[in-house]
Amino acid sequence: MGNERKWVYGFDEVEDAEAYVGGSWDGVRGLMGGKGANLAEMTRVGVPVPPGFTVTTEACNAYLEVGEQFPADMWEQTLGALQHVEKQTGKTFGDASNPLLVSCRSGAKFSMPGMMDTVLNIGLNDEVAIGMVKLIGDERFVYDSYRRLVQMFATVVLGLETEPFEEVLSEYRKKYGVDNDAVLPPAALKEVVERFKSLAPGFPQEPIDQLRLATEAVFKSWNGKRAFDYRNAAKIAHDLGTAVNIQTMVFGNMGTDSATGVAMTRDATTGVDHIEGDFLINAQGEDVVAGTRPTKAMDDMAVEMPELYGEFRTIAKNLENHYREMQDMEFTVERGKLWILQTRDGKRTAQAAVRIAVDLADEGLITKEQAVMKVTPDQVDFFLHPQFSVEAKKAAVESGSQIAVGLNVSPGAAVGVVAFDADLAEKWAKDDGKKVIMVRPETKPDDVHGMLAAQGILTKLGGRTSHAALVARQFGKPAVVGVAALDIDMVNRQMTVDGKVIKEGDWLSIDGTIGEVFLGSLDTVVPDLSDPWLKKLLGWADEFRTLGVWANADYPLDAERARENGAEGIGLCRTEHMFFEPERIPVVQKMITTESDEERRKALDTLLPLQREDFAGLFRAMDGLPVIIRLIDPPLHEFLPAFEDLTAELADLRIKAAAGEDVAGELNETEVMLGRVKALHEANPMLGTRGVRLGIMMPDLTKMQVRAIIEAACTVAKEGVDVHPEVMIPLTSHVNELKRQQTVLEAEAKVVMEEQGVEVDYKFGTMIEIPRAAITAGEIAEYAQFFSFGTNDLTQTTFGISRDDAESGFLIDYLREGILTENPFASIDEPGVGRLMKWAVEEGRATRPGLEVGICGEHGGDPKSIDLCHRLGLNYVSCSPFRVPIARLAAAQSAITHK
Ligand code: PEP
Ligand code: MG
Repeated sequence: MGNERKWVYGFDEVEDAEAYVGGSWDGVRGLMGGKGANLAEMTRVGVPVPPGFTVTTEACNAYLEVGEQFPADMWEQTLGALQHVEKQTGKTFGDASNPLLVSCRSGAKFSMPGMMDTVLNIGLNDEVAIGMVKLIGDERFVYDSYRRLVQMFATVVLGLETEPFEEVLSEYRKKYGVDNDAVLPPAALKEVVERFKSLAPGFPQEPIDQLRLATEAVFKSWNGKRAFDYRNAAKIAHDLGTAVNIQTMVFGNMGTDSATGVAMTRDATTGVDHIEGDFLINAQGEDVVAGTRPTKAMDDMAVEMPELYGEFRTIAKNLENHYREMQDMEFTVERGKLWILQTRDGKRTAQAAVRIAVDLADEGLITKEQAVMKVTPDQVDFFLHPQFSVEAKKAAVESGSQIAVGLNVSPGAAVGVVAFDADLAEKWAKDDGKKVIMVRPETKPDDVHGMLAAQGILTKLGGRTSHAALVARQFGKPAVVGVAALDIDMVNRQMTVDGKVIKEGDWLSIDGTIGEVFLGSLDTVVPDLSDPWLKKLLGWADEFRTLGVWANADYPLDAERARENGAEGIGLCRTEHMFFEPERIPVVQKMITTESDEERRKALDTLLPLQREDFAGLFRAMDGLPVIIRLIDPPLHEFLPAFEDLTAELADLRIKAAAGEDVAGELNETEVMLGRVKALHEANPMLGTRGVRLGIMMPDLTKMQVRAIIEAACTVAKEGVDVHPEVMIPLTSHVNELKRQQTVLEAEAKVVMEEQGVEVDYKFGTMIEIPRAAITAGEIAEYAQFFSFGTNDLTQTTFGISRDDAESGFLIDYLREGILTENPFASIDEPGVGRLMKWAVEEGRATRPGLEVGICGEHGGDPKSIDLCHRLGLNYVSCSPFRVPIARLAAAQSAITHK
């Protein structure tokens, strides 16, 4: 190693970035960081980029590995690259008569906005300042630049607090009666520089020392707490390192023909194809991002600097076409010359992500497949995020609880109690389970943990490109920023808005979709999926996916919603849910508790038409599509009153009887009920008389259900509905259970069809939710015409973890300790449960080729589990109607990925 190793690349040295590092753009970004790779790429395609070079991430890693020492030859290569920049610019670093100033910025493979360090104006010192004044004649500008360098160097490189510097500035603003540092007179700025230098005695006058120390500071900032926390939250690896970009300074603060700004090539909130961003005339970049001066919209630039705006728009389009992606750009105009300082793929809301992906495909820049791969299932989820209900909103507006309006930077409605700092927001959310709205004057990278824990974010300062906006959008937190009306009093921990005082802990509701703030807690609703771009994208997803997407739905209304969302069948109707309806439960209880066959038959006869109507409704809603109806599953005691309640009631009645009240009838009924509850009591009912076992013990009940299903099917078939009922038997573990139960039920189905004089296309099948059923799937498939994995129970029984209480007990510790890396009730455990599934699919289809196999456990809506189901060759996944769109996208992505 050593001397031959290349640590530094000039922006103009990278011929074709994609040709580097094994030919992969990913590799280039890994080596040069996203920013460096883009600067080189922009230089290559002729975008006006100030000359500069990149010190690689490998150099950073080498530096950190060997105890903060530059690797051999790195610094020599840096100086060589600097000389090259001097040639390109015709300026010399440290030469007072014609000085080159440079910036030194971090740039990792993945963008980590504001998490690492930057130093600007490197190369200025007392002597260079004097020379520059002579050269450009603008003393105010030179000393403003110099004081910025000293301040940044002091805080970033020397690690000093920023407050003493701010106090000096504020003192001078007061003294000169101005509210903006940039308009302090030159003499004042010169004094400020001197004061700053005395606050930062370690500030080096030697430009090369400035550069070396700034480079080291950027390397070190990779391991800073902010960066570390951000990487954890954003799931970025800790061993990537950051590159350092050293680049010629250009100045947006050289007068009214200079400007600086940040802009997205499309609207990051809505996705509309319109340049959106902020700019400031006569300012430096940080003025825009910090939100310290009110910025202007890019539309104003079109009016105030029309030619430059036109040039910017052309470059923006070219870059979009080049990267085939919406870009987030930083630019500076120095005395009428436009420079592009940075471009990267723009962060965006979920809505914008979908619209941009679809538009880019429609514009022919990407394929439909690429569009489908660009949007994450989580982003689709945001379309299902709560919004305030129309009524709640109306009432809030009428009652005057709408207190302020700001910028709508990240959509969705959020409700919570106010917390004024990140630590408290995190504590309240994590330890106390509170819903929190984090309210800050503005957010900084140190606030990210609070933002992640909060439901939503509200700030007084900042624009669409502020830190709060970027982070909120990335993590899908509703956010409203730039609410100037907030008067935040951190000492008394309260804020005043429009004369109303809101204390920490008070309820607040924010609407990140339109930027409104309300007092109190507003009701929220989940919106429909009418977005036309989402519809189109999901339509494309449907073209690619091979996995069907069905829904779990018990009622016609759920089925309709599922169908609107794109479901192609019902994978699970849990019939017992219908038994729990208030007017039915006494009949169900009678059926369970009575000793008399006659009474039981009467109860079942009462339930039959009710169930028939339930099923007919489902069949009508799913006209033409399969509907799987599962026979009763839970243990019977679930339908009866609790033992403790009954004993209390009995004691009460006995006291009344002793006091002479006539309660003999009630007493008798309660005693009978208690006797039945005792008889049905099981130590672990989730593993007791439930599912098929119950059907075998109480054949009349399941016979009634099958009669109801087939009668309903015949009825709707006569109405002209194309009906495909599938009767599903739960919790099978032995083929003999099916043999017994299914034979009886199939006979009943035939009887009903004969009675009705109609033939319907029906199937009998079983859930696979007990390991033994999975293992003996070959035998089971001799009877079952379809399988559906009940992965809730299959996970419970494979792990031997009770599904009802595990997630409030040791499982949490297991996950924290890393004994389990993922909650198996959320994502299928592939090596265990997944293996059983694979076996069952293979064995089942070996017996019955073409066997229909699906999944109806909660995992059916989890993208990772959906990918497994795709790989196992299942026919469909079935999930909640609300997750159907997510499942459609996830299934398409699996199909594309494993093509
Ligand atoms: C399952 O066990 O995965 C399932 C779908 O059935 P239930 O949740 O009703 O037991
Ligand atoms: Mg189950």
